[in-house]
This record gives sequence, structure tokens and C-alpha cells, in this order.
Amino acid sequence: MSPESVPVVEKIMDANDQVALLNRKILDEAGVFAINIMASPGAGKTSTILRTIEALASEVRIAVIEGDTAPVTIDSDKVKAVGIPAVQINTGGSCHLDAPMLTRGLEKVDLNSIDLLIIENVGNLICPASFKLGSHANVVVASIPEGDDKPYKYPNIYRGLEVMIINKIDLLPYVDFNMEYFRNGAKILNENLVFFPVSCKTGEGVSKWTNWLKNRIKQQKELAK
Ligand code: MG
Ligand code: ZN
Repeated sequence: MSPESVPVVEKIMDANDQVALLNRKILDEAGVFAINIMASPGAGKTSTILRTIEALASEVRIAVIEGDTAPVTIDSDKVKAVGIPAVQINTGGSCHLDAPMLTRGLEKVDLNSIDLLIIENVGNLICPASFKLGSHANVVVASIPEGDDKPYKYPNIYRGLEVMIINKIDLLPYVDFNMEYFRNGAKILNENLVFFPVSCKTGEGVSKWTNWLKNRIKQQKELAK
């Protein structure tokens, strides 16, 4: 990056953060709790979303916004198939969602009729972390086959992160994955990080994550009163 380009990048980030604040205000006024789910491709973002819907849909009104780089509706179709409204945002090839994209998505969601908005970011562990959306919690889905050195290799994603879901724990017997090494690496970067080891395949551990989420949704409702 040339020295001249630094202020331009800062300006773009600043403009994004301003829009993120407006998004947050729109969500807060509607009493909606919003989570931004980030992960590498294949870690299990959509599977986590489907398990979360399965656990909460009887008591929590949910909508999903799907960020995709290509105009494919595979993920949003899976969400719609279980009866949950899903809005697809095509990033036009961009490898992350930004706050103005979320604003466009929010316009298509009936915020007054939901309690929880799940945003599925583009599958990428690098730049989605740099773009605030206005969501209330950033969640990363890591998975066992990706390896236990992820926190050491992708430190930026862990800052400003609230929850780390460690998916595919059903594969632990077959993969060299040291859970303690992984957690220590993430804790160094973010000491308040909350971990939920889960298997979206078997359902193990999912209720601990959805109970955490239910509490946060309740808190958000009380703030909106
Ligand atoms: Mg997906
Ligand atoms: Zn990007």
C-alpha cells in the first residue's frame, strides 16, 4: 500500500462506520438483536444458522440476511425451506459485506415482526472483520478440520469478536486438533471471547449457544422498551 492511499482507506472505513451506527439505530429502535456470522468457506455458517433456527424458531421470530459474492441462492433457499424469511445480498464479487450493503438488506426485512436478525457474511476470514455492519455481536464459526492454529494465523478476526463457535467437534477423534492450544491462541487476542464447541451434524453443544443467544435477545427487548 502506498503512503498516499492510507488516508483514502481511512476515509472509506470512517464512512462505513457512520452507516454502521445508523444500522444499529434502526435495529435498536425495532428491538431486534442482530448477529454477524463470519467464517472461512465450509466452516458451517449456514449449518449453524439452520441449527439455531431449529432450536429457537418456536419462541423467537427470526429473519436471515445472506451475503454472497455470486447471485446463487443456495443458502437463502435452505433458510426459506424451513419457513424463515431470507434476504439475499449479492456483493457483486466483493469478498465481504459492508454497512451500506446491510442497509439495503434491512430495507427488505420487516424488522417490527422479528426479534433476531442473523447476517451470514461472505465466507472469508480476513476482511469481513474490518467492516462494521451495525450488528450487536460478531460471531465466528471455526471448524475442527481447519486446524488449531487459526487464531495464530488470522489474529484480526478475533478482535471485536464476541462469540467463537467451534463446529464439527464430531470429527475430533479423526483430526489432530488441540482444543486447548486453539482456545489459548484466541484468548490471547480477546480475553472476553465466549466459546461454544458444537457439532451441527449431531446437535451436540448447540443448546449452550442458543441459550446464550436467547438471553441476549431478551436483554435487547428490554432495552427497546
Ligand atoms: Mg453458507
Ligand atoms: Zn473483502
